[in-house]
This record gives sequence, structure tokens and C-alpha cells, in this order.
Amino acid sequence: MSFLSTGLSDIFLSALASQGYAEPTPIQLAAIPAVISGKDVMGVAQTGSGKTASYVLPILQGLLKESSAKHREPATLILVPTRELADQVQEVIREFSEKLPQRIHSIALYGGASVNAQMQALGKTDIVVATPGRLLDLLDKNALKLSSVSTLVLDEADKMLNLGFKEEVDKILSLLQKKRQNLLFSATLSPDLTAIQQVLLVDPVIIKIEFTEEESTINELGYFVTKERKGPLLRYLIKKSEHKQVLVFASSAKTVDSILNKLSKNGINAAQIHSQMSQGARRETLRSFKDGNLHVLVTTDLLARGIDIEFLPCVFNYELPRSPKDYIHRIGRTGRAGSPGEAITLIKMEELHHFRVIQKKNGKKIQMKHSDEMDLHGY
Ligand code: AMP
Repeated sequence: MSFLSTGLSDIFLSALASQGYAEPTPIQLAAIPAVISGKDVMGVAQTGSGKTASYVLPILQGLLKESSAKHREPATLILVPTRELADQVQEVIREFSEKLPQRIHSIALYGGASVNAQMQALGKTDIVVATPGRLLDLLDKNALKLSSVSTLVLDEADKMLNLGFKEEVDKILSLLQKKRQNLLFSATLSPDLTAIQQVLLVDPVIIKIEFTEEESTINELGYFVTKERKGPLLRYLIKKSEHKQVLVFASSAKTVDSILNKLSKNGINAAQIHSQMSQGARRETLRSFKDGNLHVLVTTDLLARGIDIEFLPCVFNYELPRSPKDYIHRIGRTGRAGSPGEAITLIKMEELHHFRVIQKKNGKKIQMKHSDEMDLHGY
């Protein structure tokens, strides 16, 4: 299959080629023509399957086709759940729009960064990528209007419609013109998503890329371990595995901090990202990890959604996530775009029941290993 059949114009075909995208992923093959057709779309496909380009490319093509008159107000709004994902989506937009004959302006708006700088940069923006809270702040300050938005994207849509975001997202939606194209993308389905789809989408194209276990490139594995041996086991496995890079998930900023402390004391080149850090530090650390300058990054579910770290070979769950869906999102940071990955979960006996629930909900049985016999002395 080639991008030729998706309806993208030559200029995008050559941009794709220079980006090294030889052929479309299944979600791109289905979603690009659907978005070009102007219809509402709901796209569900596994993590790391190229969802971002599947809406960014046809949106850019649409903007390029419109009259050369610049938009005073944004024509496209992309809502995402985290600041890091906002940066990442904007980066994809920037990479592709750089290759176009006409500049398409985009901006990422999120909290933790200077409001004034964002207000100044808003000048003539075609595409706004935003987290809901900061967008509402800027709307309150009359820094932008959304009445010209004719395309709305909810990325990680199930998360955007969760309790924590629902009210803010509803408020934003009420400010958009009624006649618009709505695009919902997610790696996981949820009752919220099904409900909103019925309210928000008109006669949508629904794309669900089925995904079989055999196709998974992630090797999942669990280790039984006692509370006391968890830290040493993590360090032992990181050192023994020789993975080029490792992402470790824990459930709170406090645990992240203590894991990092011990890793550093063991001479492992590690850093952390969590919500208690400044946005500048978060951005710098993620950049450094993406550039391969860090061996281990320890984080919370903050980085579980959508974040793309090329060829990341291994994810650890130092602690279990609360929901089966979060488990899928966390391990989906590895094995992206068809590359192989390993996902290792450390399980205390009392967590076994919850881990079984996760496996059952995700329809997958995970091989368990015992760590009692392993000599963790010195780790
Ligand atoms: P996403 O799911 O949008 O975060 O994309 C996951 C990764 O796949 C990113 O690193 C993309 O650069 C890469 N990617 C997306 N589409 C393609 C494609 N058609 N061919 C090769 N790589 C791709």
C-alpha cells in the first residue's frame, strides 16, 4: 500500500518521503481519506500506530487548499491531555508544514509556560494545539477566539472526556461554531467515548483497527517480588538487560523521586519527570531522553499517553497503574511503529489480584517469573 491512494497531494507525498514514511500505517490508510472527505471521524488504533500523522496531514492539506488569505483566528483546534503531548503534536505539524510552499502557523498552548509569551505568539495562528485549562485561561483573557474553528480534534479522546477534563472540554466545545468537522482519536475505547461519539459526531466514519496479540511487538513479563527487593530488582534488571534506554512508571511523584535517588546512587544515568516539576525542567528532561542522552527516565502516568520515544526498548511498571487502560498506554511507549519492545511489571503478592484484573480486562495472560532466587546483592 502506498500513500498515493490516500488522496494526499504530491507536496505531501514528497514530505512523507523525506520524513522516511515509506507506506501508510493502517490507521493512516483509513483515516486520511476520511478526514479529507470532510466527514466526522472516530479513529481507534493501538498506541504508536501513527495516529498523529493520520489527522495532521489531511488537516494541513485542507488549510493549504483554502484561500491564501491568512486566518486571523485559528481554523483548527487540537485538544490533548498533557503538555508533553501538546509539544509533540505541534512538532509533527511543524515538521510537515516546514516543507509546504505556504507557511501554516501552529502553536502549542499549555500551563506552566508564560501566558504573555503565548498571547504574543498567537498573532495569526492556523492551528492551536492545547491542553484545556490554559486554553480556557487564554479565552478568558480574550487572547483568542474559537469561533472560526472548523476542525476539532480530540486526541487521546477517552482521556479528554474523563471526569477530570469533561467540564473544561464541554465549555470549550460550547464556544465553537456548530458547523465543523469533529475528529476523535484514541488508543482505547471507553463508555465515555461511545457516549460522546453519539452526541458530538454526525454520521461519522468509524475506524477501528483491530489488533491481534500475535501482531504485538511488545514482550510482556511480570516478576513476583517483595516490597524490600523491588528497588534492587529494578536496578538489577536495568543493569543486566543492557537496554539502551528504559522508562520506569511509578504511581506518585514521591515514589518517582525515591526510585531516582537510588538509581543515581547506583551509578545509573537517570532523571525524572512528574507534575511537581517546572514545565521547563519537564521539557528539557524529555528532550534529553528523546535525544538518547539519558539511560533511564522515571515518571508517572503523566507520560503514559501518546508520548513517542523512538525505538524505546523497555518499559518498567515499578508499581501497577490503577486501570487496565493505563497499563495499555504505559506499555505502549515501547514497541512503537512496529519496533520490538519489552514491558516488565514488578508485582508484590498483594497486587496479584489487581494484576489479574488488568490482564483479564486486556484479554491477555502475562508470563510471570519469580525473583526469590535472584542474587540482588549489591544492587
Ligand atoms: P504516533 O502514533 O502518531 O505517535 O506515531 C508513532 C511513531 O510512528 C512516530 O515516531 C512516527 O514518526 C512514526 N510513524 C508514523 N507514521 C509512520 C509511517 N507511515 N511510517 C513510518 N513511521 C511512521
